[in-house]
Amino acid sequence: MERPFTKIVATLGPSSSGKENIKALANAGVNVFRLNFSHGTHETHQENCRIIREIEQENHTHYAILADMQGPKLRVGTFKNEKIVLQNGQKFRLDMDITPGDETRVSLMHPEIFSILKEGMILLLNDGQIQLCVNDFGKDYMNTTVLVGGLLSDRKGVNVPDVVLPINALTEKDILDLNFALDMGVDWICLSFVQQPQDVRMARKLIGERAGIIGKIEKPAALNHLDEIIDLCDGIMVARGDLGVECPIEAVPGLQRDIVEKCRQKGKPVIVATQMLESMINVPVPTRAEVSDVATAVFEGVDAVMLSAETAAGKFPIQAVQMMRRIIMTAQKDDAYKHAMETFSMPPDNSIASAITSAMKQMVKVLAQPSCIVTYTVSGKTTFRAARERVLVPILALTSDKHIANKLSLVWGVYPIVTDHVKDMTQVTPIAIQQAKEIGLAKQGDELIITAGIPFARQGSTNILHIAKVD
Ligand code: PGA
Ligand code: MN
Repeated sequence: MERPFTKIVATLGPSSSGKENIKALANAGVNVFRLNFSHGTHETHQENCRIIREIEQENHTHYAILADMQGPKLRVGTFKNEKIVLQNGQKFRLDMDITPGDETRVSLMHPEIFSILKEGMILLLNDGQIQLCVNDFGKDYMNTTVLVGGLLSDRKGVNVPDVVLPINALTEKDILDLNFALDMGVDWICLSFVQQPQDVRMARKLIGERAGIIGKIEKPAALNHLDEIIDLCDGIMVARGDLGVECPIEAVPGLQRDIVEKCRQKGKPVIVATQMLESMINVPVPTRAEVSDVATAVFEGVDAVMLSAETAAGKFPIQAVQMMRRIIMTAQKDDAYKHAMETFSMPPDNSIASAITSAMKQMVKVLAQPSCIVTYTVSGKTTFRAARERVLVPILALTSDKHIANKLSLVWGVYPIVTDHVKDMTQVTPIAIQQAKEIGLAKQGDELIITAGIPFARQGSTNILHIAKVD
């Protein structure tokens, strides 16, 4: 059985609640479940988490759980009549007055924003559909002219591109959500609206190594510090929704390609997100353009593609996952995929780990078709390193730490399994062979490439490469 290299992230929500629905998603091919803390309650997230762990046991596999923090998303307040229509050219005021708004004004209860205003600055409301230009302002108000009008309803988002807002990437709500998510034992935390490296450092202080940190790239400011942000994070999400509001929408494909390439070079998992199969929210078949978009991300070599509203609030959540899986499987059989993965190669540096991975690539070529690469890993580093090479062979990740196994479910080509703790390399080989056979990655006569770092107690010291034959 051929397995997908590219992983699928599915967001849970009303369309995918309850064990039956979540299990159907898992069985359709989901590897990572995303709990979106912009929606839902702590109770629903906890219930989903419990169900996922239960399914994990039943299916003898691992799923990564990813808790996505809302972050400092700016929002207008409410209106007397829930919504208004703004006309091009009219004046409109935003202020710190909590009373419900009307056609002339609405509240914007974010004091930070008033401190960085400049005359002529552009504000984008409601997913970029409405544009306001700032005329004059004080410390708790701004008067604007509507450049592009439209419908504006309660609590719609406000984007201020091109400026670094003096706001932390974790709000008070986020810190409560974060602690709740960590207590539930989620594997990854997503940070929304990261603007600068400092945002990630602050999150790391709170999170430590309890979960991996995924920085969402959705602010132009983050693009100015991309290298440092990727280095500080454990993974990256190309958050095309807000990115396409904050930057010219036509720049998003190029940005996606550049961000993905940088992450692959650095060996950090990267997810492409938002609107991938958007029309499947309402209809069972995606558009050709959407299919092409998913395939493009796969050809770029991303670790995972993500479904948001398609699985959280759509009418066809299972079909969306099945469709994504079919697109992945078809793309990876294409000669262009092999070519795209092979042509990506970084010159090896002078490290032992680099020597091992180059040798591993060479072994895969010479052996023609080894059935899998087996990594024995304590911290996950050996596995991240092996996956970075994108050799078209599944990677069986053995670890004694369940949390690391869950986490690795997000990574390109990796199939994690929890084993007993082993003391030396002689113990790894029989376990590797047995596990590979058990999950159908190897059969009698096959060759496996095994890589690990000894001594096992020391993290991140990949230094062993070994070939084993299944007898
Ligand atoms: P969101 O993030 O869905 O939490 O806004 C993803 C994006 O902006 O694309
Ligand atoms: Mn976003």
